[in-house]
Amino acid sequence: MPVFMPVGTAASVKAVEQGVLETIGVGGHGAEIILANTYHLYLRPGHEVVRRMGGVHRFMSWERPMLTDSGGFQVFSLSGLRKVTPEGVEFRSHLDGSKHFFSPERSMDVQIALGADIAMVFDECVETPASWERTRESMGLTHDWARRSKDHFEAHKHEVPWFEAATQEQRQEQKRDAGVLPLRQAQGQNDKLNDELRGKTQSLFGIVQGGMYADLRKESAERLVEMELPGYAIGGLAVGEPREVTREMIARTLEFLPKDKPRYVMGVGYPDEIEEYAKMGVDMMDCVLPTRAGRHGLVFARDADGGVVRMNIKRREYAEDSGPIDASCGCMVCGRYSRAYLRHLFVAGEPLGLTLNSVHNLHFYLATMSRVRAELAEAGS
Ligand SMILES: [Zn+2]
Repeated sequence: MPVFMPVGTAASVKAVEQGVLETIGVGGHGAEIILANTYHLYLRPGHEVVRRMGGVHRFMSWERPMLTDSGGFQVFSLSGLRKVTPEGVEFRSHLDGSKHFFSPERSMDVQIALGADIAMVFDECVETPASWERTRESMGLTHDWARRSKDHFEAHKHEVPWFEAATQEQRQEQKRDAGVLPLRQAQGQNDKLNDELRGKTQSLFGIVQGGMYADLRKESAERLVEMELPGYAIGGLAVGEPREVTREMIARTLEFLPKDKPRYVMGVGYPDEIEEYAKMGVDMMDCVLPTRAGRHGLVFARDADGGVVRMNIKRREYAEDSGPIDASCGCMVCGRYSRAYLRHLFVAGEPLGLTLNSVHNLHFYLATMSRVRAELAEAGS
C-alpha cells in the first residue's frame, strides 16, 4: 500500500522534530518512512561521522524505516560545478567549493556508512529537455552505473554500521537495552515494504531513467528488472515537464515493473498528484513540497468538494481570522491554532510559524495517503 516519505535532507525534516513526525497523520500513526539526502550528509557532518555515531537511524534517533538517495540528483543539480565521465562525477561542494568525486562505488560506500534501510543505485539524471539520442546515451550510463552499484553493494553491504548487531538472536536483547533499535519495527500495513526491511543489510533499489520517451522508459525498466533488485524507482520526473507527461511516463514505466516489489516515484508532487500516482500503482513517493511550501507560508487545505486549496497564510485577510487552516483537518495545528495566529507568526518571522505550517502540510500529505490506502483496500476487497 502506498506511502509518502517526508524528506529529511540533512537527517532532519526541516523544522519538524522526530517525536512530532512519529505522531502526525491520521490516528497519530506518524510518518512510516522518511528520506535523507546522501549528498548533504556526505558533505556535512560527513558519512564517516554518521557511521561512527551508529548510522543515520541512531544518529538522529529515528527507529522507523529510512531511505537514502544516491546523491546523483543533487550532484547533477549543481550545473556548472560538475564534470561527468563514464567513471563518475566530479563536483564542487555548494558549501565551500571543495572538489569531490562520486562514482557508483563511492555512492554505495557513503550510503552503506549512513546505513538507511533502503539505498539507491547511483544514476545520471539527464537535463530537461534532452534529445532522444542524448537521453538514450545517458540511460546507458545509468544502467552501467546500476550494475556497478549492485556489484559494489553486494561486496560491501555487511559494512553497514548495525550489521554486527542485527542478527535475529540479538534483536530482542537490543530492544530491551537500547531504546534505539538498529532495525526498525515494521509496521503491519505495508507488508510489501516490510519484507524488504527485515533483513540485516540494506535493500538496494534501482532507478529507471529514459527521460520523456516511453520507449526508453520501457527499455530502462527491462534492463533494471533483469538485475533483480528488491525495488525500483522511477527517476528523472517532475523536473519541469508538463504534468500530463509525468503521468504518462509513470504509467508507461509501471507496466514493466513487477507489482510484487515496491515501485517508487522520486520527487513528486502536489497533494492531488500523489493521490493520482498512488491510485495508478505507485507504492512510494517523496517530496520536499509540504515542508518547503510551509516554510514559505503556503499551506494546503480541502474545499467543500474535497479539492486541494493552496492558502498563502501571510495574506492580510487572515489577520483576524479565528478559524483553523482547515476545519476538516485533524492535525495538532488545526486543532489548536488560528489562521490569525499562524499569520502573525509568519509575518513576525517566528520560527514556530515555519514548524506549525510544516506540521500541518505533512499531516495533510499523510492523511491524503491514509485515505487513498483505505480506498484501495476497499476497492480490492
Ligand atoms: Zn491541519
